[in-house]
Amino acid sequence: MAGPTSDIPSPAPGSPRVRRAAELTWTEVRDLDREATVVVLPTGALEAHGPHLPLSTDVIIAEGMAEAGAVRLEASGVPCLILPALVYTPAPFASGFPGTVECRPEILTELILEIGRSLAGQGFRRVAIANAHLDPAHLGALHRACDGLVALGLEVAFPDLTRRPWGSRLTDEFKSGACHAGRYEGSVVLARRPEWVREELRRGLPPNPVSLSAAIGRGQDTFEEAGGPDAYFGDPAAATAEEGRRTLEVLGDILADAVTGGADG
Ligand SMILES: [Zn+2]
Repeated sequence: MAGPTSDIPSPAPGSPRVRRAAELTWTEVRDLDREATVVVLPTGALEAHGPHLPLSTDVIIAEGMAEAGAVRLEASGVPCLILPALVYTPAPFASGFPGTVECRPEILTELILEIGRSLAGQGFRRVAIANAHLDPAHLGALHRACDGLVALGLEVAFPDLTRRPWGSRLTDEFKSGACHAGRYEGSVVLARRPEWVREELRRGLPPNPVSLSAAIGRGQDTFEEAGGPDAYFGDPAAATAEEGRRTLEVLGDILADAVTGGADG
């Protein structure tokens, strides 16, 4: 990547060179081709992810997806700008667990619309949402926000991983619906923030094969009700950093494809 990226501070060791708004100056943003630039907003949550993964697990995954997607888009000539992640959002499934901090769905929708208005006022035209938090209340608020962004005249890409065709490209555990703080999510955290995983605990946790998507279908709306008293679903002990790196590649492909309207559009 040439041009404005050459002035950004070095990213963390091992992470690819991408343009993060938090690291830029206003003059560097002024000099971007703002009409062509895709502004990527990672969206996660601060919520319980078992006794072994950090509360910010979905933020870690969303930022990884944003970064991998931006690398792909930049390689195909599409400039990207990654915003700091949104952390506070509805998380009613996890609200019974200490450390989960949430807000009402309307707040999230309105906040994203305000961000869109602010960006549009500076001449940005393209937004992509890299989301890793799959609580239905959060997803509903995101879809309403996207409708509002489109109404503002912005071009919006939001690959909802719970909808076709996107989720079918992810791992078997993800597709089973037993995928909260299990193998799928644990693998990505091991790939990006291994020092934040309680390894001894993780390796000793028995699998919890209860499907959250099936529980949602039954009208259950908390982890406890769904059969996850420790706030995890899936197989935490089976997680590996190698699988996490593969998953991040796929998440990056999904985001890039949603932006370019490519495969499976
Ligand atoms: Zn999660």
